[in-house]
Amino acid sequence: MSHLFNTYARLPVRMVRGEGAWLIDDQGKRFLDAISGIGVCSLGHAHPKIAAAIADQAHKLIHTANTVELPLQERLADELADISGLERAFIANSGAEAIECALKLARLHARRCGIEAPAVLVAEHGFHGRTLAAISASGNPAIQAGYEPLVDGFVRIPFGDAEAAAEAFEAHPEIAAALIEPVQGEGGVRVADDHYLRRLRELCDEHQALLMLDEIQSGMNRTGRWFAHQHQAGLRPDVMTVAKALGNGVPVAACLAREEVADLMRPGSHGSTFGGNPLACRAALEVIDVMRSDRIGERAARAGEQLIDALRSNLDGQPVVRQIRGRGLMIGIELDCDCAELKQDALEEELIINVTHGRVVRLLPPLIIDDAELDRIVEVVTGIIRKRYGAA
Ligand SMILES: *Cc1c(COP(=O)(O)O)cnc(C)c1O
Repeated sequence: MSHLFNTYARLPVRMVRGEGAWLIDDQGKRFLDAISGIGVCSLGHAHPKIAAAIADQAHKLIHTANTVELPLQERLADELADISGLERAFIANSGAEAIECALKLARLHARRCGIEAPAVLVAEHGFHGRTLAAISASGNPAIQAGYEPLVDGFVRIPFGDAEAAAEAFEAHPEIAAALIEPVQGEGGVRVADDHYLRRLRELCDEHQALLMLDEIQSGMNRTGRWFAHQHQAGLRPDVMTVAKALGNGVPVAACLAREEVADLMRPGSHGSTFGGNPLACRAALEVIDVMRSDRIGERAARAGEQLIDALRSNLDGQPVVRQIRGRGLMIGIELDCDCAELKQDALEEELIINVTHGRVVRLLPPLIIDDAELDRIVEVVTGIIRKRYGAA
């Protein structure tokens, strides 16, 4: 019997190695990875430049804690400012930690505005991580069940509904921030329309609230730009969370903020033992460097269009398919029934996929994926959907 907590429904396969878009199990069998460790290994597995940077850094300095100045952490903050337009970064280890930092900023901002019992506007089906505050912010009762009392101070509205946001701001003057994913990931790969984020920006400005975008899954070129909200020219959040692909598998995350928002925190206000250590920062710097020089965003945008077009034409006329949607290489196929079995069906065809929100096949392939690999994803995914649910 396993000594591990039984917290995951795992596929019965034992991965020991990776290579680009492929995972290799302990029998030497190769699987095409169409989920990249949930949007983490965007540059593929065992990327030679990332591996070399990590190895080099491990021989130099892994950790010292934030009791001294760390040049690599400063350089990472510079690079993050460059790609995001947000001047300050707090470096953390995971998405949920970056969210905690954002939620703490919202509380400090509320104090400054004289709000006694502040609230954060969040969306139905949102997902922000697994800490107590992050599950409280998330709009999924299944991940909250049993952990009550939850952290309070959240006002929830339907995702993508600008009118509901406007009404919530009127009804709840205590709203100090809005925390929204530009593209919901766990919630079923839902893309906010352009108008929505712009309207949220306006509402936050009118009500002196912070616009906080959770780009943990949608960021780092996943949707074809460094950050998904950048598809709308000129839109700038006050706070943004980044994680998943930032370290290509090395745990590293960031809460980015405008200077005046970040200045709400002072020495002693917040911290992390591991956060921003030289090893993690070196990995993230290498990721940004490779993504920039290899023009990974452009590749993701093109590959995403190819993949979504091929899925649409191959699944056309399948009554079980409700909608195929996404942006860049963040793609969801919504069926009209629960379809978790498809993960096992795909595994049997040596493909790793994911199903989220019960009925949405989620594809987050590595952004370095080539055309033949894309074709293989289309072939297997359409094959297993037709086989299990197809019209006779
Ligand atoms: C994965 C995810 C998180 C949580 O990140 P962890 O690293 O698992 O803590 C938060 N928000 C979004 C949008 C995510 O996709």
